[in-house]
Amino acid sequence: MSRRPTGLPASGAAGAPAGGAAGAAVSAPIAGWYTHNGRHDLPWRPTRDRWAVLVSEVMLQQTQVGRVAGVWPGFMARFPTPEAMAAAGPGDVIAAWGTLGYPRRARRLWEAAERIAAHGWPEALTDLPGVGRYTADAVSAQVDGRDAPAIETNIRRVVERRAGRTLSPSEAAAASREAGWPLNGRDRLLALMDIGALLCRPRAPRCPECPLEPGCATARSIASETTRPATPPRVAGDPSARPRDTGDPPAGVPWRTLGRRARQPAYEGSFRQRRGRVLAELRAGPRPSADLDPAALATLVEDGLAALDGPIARLP
Ligand code: SF4
Repeated sequence: MSRRPTGLPASGAAGAPAGGAAGAAVSAPIAGWYTHNGRHDLPWRPTRDRWAVLVSEVMLQQTQVGRVAGVWPGFMARFPTPEAMAAAGPGDVIAAWGTLGYPRRARRLWEAAERIAAHGWPEALTDLPGVGRYTADAVSAQVDGRDAPAIETNIRRVVERRAGRTLSPSEAAAASREAGWPLNGRDRLLALMDIGALLCRPRAPRCPECPLEPGCATARSIASETTRPATPPRVAGDPSARPRDTGDPPAGVPWRTLGRRARQPAYEGSFRQRRGRVLAELRAGPRPSADLDPAALATLVEDGLAALDGPIARLP
């Protein structure tokens, strides 16, 4: 599917990043790439509805895109507005959250819906429960087209590999503006996200297809590494000899570590898994609390994800 990006400046070099023509020459192909290769078919991409975008961003905070894409349409049909979610109550939201994981997000989303339904949208989205700086920027870039460089994992990986080093938050924001030029706002955010997800992948980046390759400090070391034989063949007659050096620079840039996200602890055997089992039982209906993992149930009650009616445990 291809759609024309909407964030292009009206004409000329308006909005060009510091660096001027050189930056423009390097970055311009991103617009064409995004038009033809962006993930425009993700179910939440066509909407500019603030509530729908907020729900997608909260789901994407800790869950992979493919799983969110399977849940988001039904979830939005069930809770199309903050008012609908507020009226439904937290138990329904937690039940509909299904297996997206980290269900505190469902509880916080219901609290946010309740607040919006009662008082309207706040001026600063970060005033809503469960909405941090990144989520607020990502929503306002997508809905209002605001020039908010929201740096999530994929974009951080792209801009750090392009720079060839780790970047501070303000450096990453400036680098995303430059890498994404001439796109801005919504299209820049989505284009860089899509490059990170489809091309600048953590393990096997596809640099030759990347519109940012001409200005990328890391692409060459990736290319030399991926074309080098994994185990150099021995030279007959001299077991210690190795093939002549190719002339490529040593892989001084640890590209695999650039933009790397902290590893999540293993789920299998974890306390999180025990909580997940109890929550799955409660999604099916109220249960005698004596039949459930007591430690897991206690923390779910504490987090507002479960409630007790005497000896019976249920969703809140
Ligand atoms: S050229 Fe390669 S390393 Fe550089 S941004 Fe593109 S995919 Fe990432």
